[in-house]
Order: sequence, then structure tokens, then C-alpha cells
Amino acid sequence: MSKNPKKTEEVLGGATSQPMEDLTGTSVDFFREHLVQLQGAMKHAPMEDHVRLILNEPKNEVIVNFPVRMDDGKFELFTGYRIQHNNILGPYKGGMRYHHDVTLAEVKALAALMTYKCALLEVPFGGAKGGIRIRPRDYTKTELERITRRFTHDLGSNIGPEYDIPAPDMGTNSQTMVWMMDTYMNMHGATDKHAQRRIVTGKSLTSGGSRGRTKATGQGVVYCVQEWADEKGFRLDGSSFVLQGFGNVGSNTAQILSRLGSIMTAVQDHTGAIYNSQGIYPRKLIDWVEETGGVAGYPGAEEISPEDFWRVKCDILVPAALELQITEKVARDLDCRVIVEGANGPTTAAGEKILLEKGVDVIPDVMANAGGVVVSYFEWIQNKRSESWQLQEVDSRLHFMMKRAYHEMRNFAREHDIDNRTASLAVALERINKVYVERGVFP
Ligand code: GLU
Repeated sequence: MSKNPKKTEEVLGGATSQPMEDLTGTSVDFFREHLVQLQGAMKHAPMEDHVRLILNEPKNEVIVNFPVRMDDGKFELFTGYRIQHNNILGPYKGGMRYHHDVTLAEVKALAALMTYKCALLEVPFGGAKGGIRIRPRDYTKTELERITRRFTHDLGSNIGPEYDIPAPDMGTNSQTMVWMMDTYMNMHGATDKHAQRRIVTGKSLTSGGSRGRTKATGQGVVYCVQEWADEKGFRLDGSSFVLQGFGNVGSNTAQILSRLGSIMTAVQDHTGAIYNSQGIYPRKLIDWVEETGGVAGYPGAEEISPEDFWRVKCDILVPAALELQITEKVARDLDCRVIVEGANGPTTAAGEKILLEKGVDVIPDVMANAGGVVVSYFEWIQNKRSESWQLQEVDSRLHFMMKRAYHEMRNFAREHDIDNRTASLAVALERINKVYVERGVFP
């Protein structure tokens, strides 16, 4: 694509390294990586054979190719995906990712993770994920609006407020969701237009969003850090943390964690990596990123190489960017006590093996970043009931659900003497299996 980069307003996470390759240059298929982890968990959850079969592939894979007129009058063709992995527990649910590396394998894995995330948290939704293979920074706001509206239109009845409910993910935000909502509402009859509002979650507060949704994933990450610290008798005040990704998840995690006295010493995003042993102020870095588009050049820290970034000694490491970042090599270099996965699938199976050998604790994605979908569920309920909850209510309900799932994961891990990822998936699998056994398979 030979477009000049144009600055847009979207909030972007992202990191520098190539997402679909490990550092040795070997191509890694995210969906296969996920299946390896899933097979491991299936050994610990009693499962019917037919349920294993069902979960190995998504139920529906929707791919749309659609043209959109650019600001210069020329047309471009885009490829959009919506993968619906499973809906035995409720309507399909999951984000829409705009990223130049979006592939079918990636979206399939992300959709499957949503199924297990919702099951673990007891959110009555299934799992889905979608996206467009696009570099959003290369498009103007008006182009992004037309792309989003046309994509929503082309998905047609493949999404619906009781069927499949999109949300923001990497490269999309509340503005993207409001465009989707408005397009969908206008595709339906005037009389029940407002009943369609919950077609998406993660909307702005003014257009029907929930208080606390923007920070929800970061807030959930921090609730997990607090549970981990309690269990280990670890003091957060005066501890250090390192972040990969400074989009919605990273920046909110940074702000909330720093309020607990933890010090951010290094951050990496798609523009580079920065380090300051004395600490980097999250609020100042947010202002810098809003102004310049990335963490590179931030005056309050020195720039470091991607290799050195992973070697920074810290207590808490939060990957909050792309998948497949913590490879075997990175895992060997890391010097931290706990990894809290703000991103989906940031650790490869080989990387995890090394971490477990080294005694690094891992709080896996389906647990650590579930705050987003939990508050999405609250938004969906509020829309359905025409309610508007106070922030305190949202936060305390979120806290309750995160804490409950965290302890279910930890109890299962202890009882079966297994790692947290295997345990979290096994808890989710048990729940899904039970429902399949009760309901059977049609016909
Ligand atoms: N994209 C987020 C995730 O991966 C949120 C999904 C949602 O709120 O539906 O969990």
C-alpha cells in the first residue's frame, strides 16, 4: 500500500516486533499455539469426545471483501473477518481488531480465547473475534468511518444484539463502536432502533457506553496483580513494573498500578522502548504519546533496544500489545517475578515452558485481561434495561467477578498441581462440557 501516513485519533497499542514470527524467524501460527495449550488443559478437565471435536474449530468463519472510496476519490478493497468460535453459553462476544497483521489464524485463536474467557468469568456469552487487515494510522478519520460503516453493513445479520456483539480491540476504540452502532441502527426499522444499541459494547458514555469500560481491562489486570501480591505476601508499594504496549490496556494499567505505589521503569510500543530506573510518570507519558504518536523520544527516559527492553529487571511484567511476544529466547532473558497478560496470547508454548522452569508466575490472558469483556457485559445489561450504573457499582461488580475467577483458577491449579494457564482453561472447559452434556447435540 503506497499511502502517506495520516494522523488519526484512534488509540493504538502495538509493539515493534513482528507478531507472527518468533525471534528466530520461524513462522508461528497463533491458532496452532492455542490448540497446544488447549490440548494440555483438556487432559485435566473431564471432556466428552464430541465436545473436544466441537471446540477444535470455530462454528462460523465470516470473511468479507469490500470496496471503500478513499478521500482522493480512488477505491481500495479491504478484507474483514468475524470468527464465531462458540455460543453454547450465550451470544458470541468479542472485539474487532484493526491491524496490518490480522490473519484468519490470528482471529480464530482470539475468538477461541474469548469463549474460554467468558466461561471462566461466568459471563453468559460465547466467543468471537473480528477485524480488518489494515494499518489504521494510514487512513484519515473520514476514511476509517467509511471503512467501519461498510464493514458493519457487509456483516449484515451475521452480528446482532442477541447473536454476536462486537467490542473494541487493538486499533479500534469507542468511536469505532459508535460508528458500528449507528450503522446497525440505521439498517433496522425506526420503531425499534434503540433496542439495537447493545449491538456493540465499548461505546462512548454519551452514546450508551458504561462508566468504567475504558479502563476496565487495565483495572482487571491490576485486580489480578493485587490478588497475586496478597497470595505471595508481596508489597506493591515500592515494587517495579514494565509494560509492553501503551494503548488502552497498557496506559490504564500503568495509571492504576502506579496509584498503588508501583513504579514503571520501562515501556515499549511500536515506536521504540524507553527506560528510567527512577520511574516514568504514566500521566506524562500518556500526554507525550497523544502528542507524538508513541513512547519514542519521551524526554523523561532513555531509549533502549528491544533486546534490552526484555532484560530490564522488574517485579511485574505486563505484556499489553500483540500475541506471541514472549518466545523461548525472550523467556530466557526475562528477569521478573510475575507476568500478567494484558494482551491475548503474548506467550508462546515454548516461552511458557521456560518461564515455568524459571519459577516465574504467569497470570494468563483469559484471566488477566477479562476486565474488558466483564464490563462489556455490564454495558450490555445496562442498555437492555435502560439503566446507567455509577462507577463504584461497575468497579465493585468487576472486582467481585475477577476475584472469584482468580481463586477458582488458583484452587484448580493447586489441586491438580498444574500451571495457571492450564488451570484457567480447564475450569472454562469443565463449564462448557457440562452444558453440552446437559443439552446434547442437535439433531
Ligand atoms: N477485545 C477485548 C478482549 O479481547 C474485549 C472484548 C469485549 O469486550 O467483548 O477481551
